[in-house]
Amino acid sequence: MKVRVLGCSGGIGGDRHSTSLLVDDDILIDAGSGVTRLSLEAMARISHLFVTHAHLDHILALPTMLDSVGVGRAAPLQIHALPGVIEILKAHIFNWQIWPDFARVPTPERPFMVYVPLEIGQPVSLGAREITAIPASHGRPAVGYRLRGERGSLIFSGDTTSHSDLFEIANATSDLRHFIVEASFDNDHQDIAAVSDHYCPATLLPDLARLKPGVPVWITHLKPGGESAIMAELADPSLPCGIPRALMPDQQFEL
Ligand SMILES: [Zn+2]
Ligand SMILES: [Zn+2]
Repeated sequence: MKVRVLGCSGGIGGDRHSTSLLVDDDILIDAGSGVTRLSLEAMARISHLFVTHAHLDHILALPTMLDSVGVGRAAPLQIHALPGVIEILKAHIFNWQIWPDFARVPTPERPFMVYVPLEIGQPVSLGAREITAIPASHGRPAVGYRLRGERGSLIFSGDTTSHSDLFEIANATSDLRHFIVEASFDNDHQDIAAVSDHYCPATLLPDLARLKPGVPVWITHLKPGGESAIMAELADPSLPCGIPRALMPDQQFEL
């Protein structure tokens, strides 16, 4: 299993793209603006999208991707998401006002996409690959994911603020190879982090101190312009897991 970072910024601007991870060549985790870096042919090969939550920075490329590669698909794109997230997508995006309902286009029998409700903790197996939704705390229906290949697991927090499940699941994952967690704001903007259910270094560092050693930690979803301040505030040499590093576009993980 190969995981490639298409976008890992908390926003856009310059080379920054919002959240999307490509698993092999047929699975996306989130469909932020990072998806727009894929060729038409690469977009056409995507068979599954696992959505963390319905915030725009995580789904914004989905409507136009479907419009671009829907025709000629052999099978509908499977949208895996919590039932609450599916309801939001139906009501507020694919509602014929913002965008066509591609779960019924061109026909309800052969649509461009189908919704597949996710259950937290229930693994979805795709060949030798296993994708499991894990809890997140983001003030609305949201999950993170554990991706498991033949050589180990990667945990991706999704958008979240502090919650104990994330670190309990990470510490209980015996084959954990990489841990990706968000830190959206620097400590000067802790008030915005609190009201928007995101981590900042002041809230993330005490949680990271509980993570088992030996697993590299990668920081994602940094707000544009705040990257240096956030990473400097996270550079605590006393962390058992080591000093976290910023996740980078095109970074690859082999699992
Ligand atoms: Zn969000
Ligand atoms: Zn986000």
